[in-house]
Amino acid sequence: MSLLVVGSVALDSVETPFGKADGVIGGSATFFSASASVQTKVQVVGVVGDDYPMDQLKPLEKRGVDFAGVERAKGTSFRWRGRYRHDLNVAETLETHLGVFSHFSPKIPPQFRNAPFVFLGNIDPRLQLDVLTQVQKPKLVACDTMNFWIESRRADLVKLLGHVDAITLNDGEARQLTDCANLVKAAQWIMSKGPKLVIIKKGEHGAFMFTSGSVFFAPAFPLEDVFDPTGAGDSFAGGFMGYLARTGDLSEASLRRAVIYGSAMGSFAVEKFSIARLLEVDAKQLAERAAELHKLVAFEQEIA
Ligand code: AMP
Repeated sequence: MSLLVVGSVALDSVETPFGKADGVIGGSATFFSASASVQTKVQVVGVVGDDYPMDQLKPLEKRGVDFAGVERAKGTSFRWRGRYRHDLNVAETLETHLGVFSHFSPKIPPQFRNAPFVFLGNIDPRLQLDVLTQVQKPKLVACDTMNFWIESRRADLVKLLGHVDAITLNDGEARQLTDCANLVKAAQWIMSKGPKLVIIKKGEHGAFMFTSGSVFFAPAFPLEDVFDPTGAGDSFAGGFMGYLARTGDLSEASLRRAVIYGSAMGSFAVEKFSIARLLEVDAKQLAERAAELHKLVAFEQEIA
């Protein structure tokens, strides 16, 4: 089943304790589609400037990512500059240059409008809301966000929550959005605004999925070398939504497996800069990593 993503298609400059990358391809929609395309076809809507190296998106096209909804506008592409110090869970934004994003109005091509699965990647919540007026009754809509939008577009973001089925965000963002230090309470606050499913990611400490009646925890894969955490969140979302779009199954058991696939894809993303590692991953490697995650938390209960 097709999967539509709307989000940033960016040029990133990143500094980690292990190296630097300057002007590499990134953005929420780019990482998401690089990740989800391991499992399913992806349709992308976004905007780039006339400076964007479109040829670098070719490997994704080969994997079934359709960029027909990516507009080429006059001006400069969205650029993000960030740094990670020793705590790789915390991204420090040094610069956000909106460029052509500041005048962007998403136009969903007619052939993308009936996608059953929709992911509203991290962009202005007003644009995320606008997208929902253009799609036809998807089976599942999920969204993401970040501190930049929580600070600058809070009311729109809360409005958006009333129109989505699921949200993925990290622990810091959940606390900032809800003003609750406790993540269980934060998830309840978010669910009270609309989403039935709240996924709170905790970087190398795994992720929680909350529904009204259950909590599920997925560990992060214990990697020896984390090279660049940029895009881990979007890759997690790509693995999660990719699994749901591939199976079409929204049962609780399937949602739990989808979280594991999300965790597995997030762990691949951080092994190299940009989308380099994601491009190497195939369905077999993904299944193997999901099996490793299963082993990591499997234990037998004591016999009473
Ligand atoms: P994450 O998966 O959370 O690490 O997201 C990383 C990506 O988010 C980077 O590739 C950035 O280009 C992109 N990004 C950073 N800030 C913003 C923003 N304010 N709006 C949209 N995308 C952003």
